[in-house]
Amino acid sequence: MTLAGKAPGTGRAGLLEKLMAAVRPEFRVDVLIADPDDPVLGVKPCEIGGCDRPIKHRGMCNGHHLRWKKAGGTDLATFKAEQTSPQMGRRELDSCTVPGCRYGAAGHGLCSRHRDKWSRAGYPDAAAWAAAAAPLVLKEYGALRRTIYAARYLSDPAYRRKISRQLNKGESLHALKRDLLYAHEGTIRARHLEQQTEQAWCLTLVTNAMVTWTTEYYGLAVESIRRSGRRIDDEVLAHISPAHSENINFFGSIDVDIEGELAQLGPTGYRPLRVQDTLF
Ligand SMILES: [Zn+2]
Ligand SMILES: [Zn+2]
Repeated sequence: MTLAGKAPGTGRAGLLEKLMAAVRPEFRVDVLIADPDDPVLGVKPCEIGGCDRPIKHRGMCNGHHLRWKKAGGTDLATFKAEQTSPQMGRRELDSCTVPGCRYGAAGHGLCSRHRDKWSRAGYPDAAAWAAAAAPLVLKEYGALRRTIYAARYLSDPAYRRKISRQLNKGESLHALKRDLLYAHEGTIRARHLEQQTEQAWCLTLVTNAMVTWTTEYYGLAVESIRRSGRRIDDEVLAHISPAHSENINFFGSIDVDIEGELAQLGPTGYRPLRVQDTLF
């Protein structure tokens, strides 16, 4: 079937029509605002002027009720008449008063980072301090670094290859560590931080041992293939990760016959290579 032969979205439109037919007209709106007198959906708004939150206690929304309790539970009518400033979340958002700072204000007209600096300066007059303070440039610096990186990544194919090579190697090392840990059912069993650290160190030790083994034997294998007259470019070798683990059995307990293993070693101290001509 070709795309042209198929009317786009027929199935969806049919479903939508069926759904709309099943929904009563009063509910076919984007935002449903229920009538406050509706016996099921209706909720009376807070009695404080300008507050659109639903009533919870004593004619007030939860937030205003809390304010009233905090104020010591004074006369309700006076309290309700006094409330003017909108609550958090209903107020216009302010921005930091330091010239050039584009973060939102967190208190005293300052963003959280400028407020920290201001508090470290010993809480001087906030407005005067803000007028003299420098804007935060770290964000801009970060954006600049990212832009340079992105431009280089996009324009330089060799750099792109280098990055993906590094990512692939990092990823293959993580996969090896996951496999190793999984043989312990993927859990850290020790209770105390010290023992947990020990387990993590053991994982690192085993990972390093395996990576060392693979690197050594890769080197020997490449050397032997090169000696036999095959050409292997260094550029190709750069793509190989030593975290390869297909030859490793992660499961069960393994008895090692140390003497027997040592007896297998050749004169150079390595096991003889198992030559399998399947590489090319
Ligand atoms: Zn309210
Ligand atoms: Zn600021």
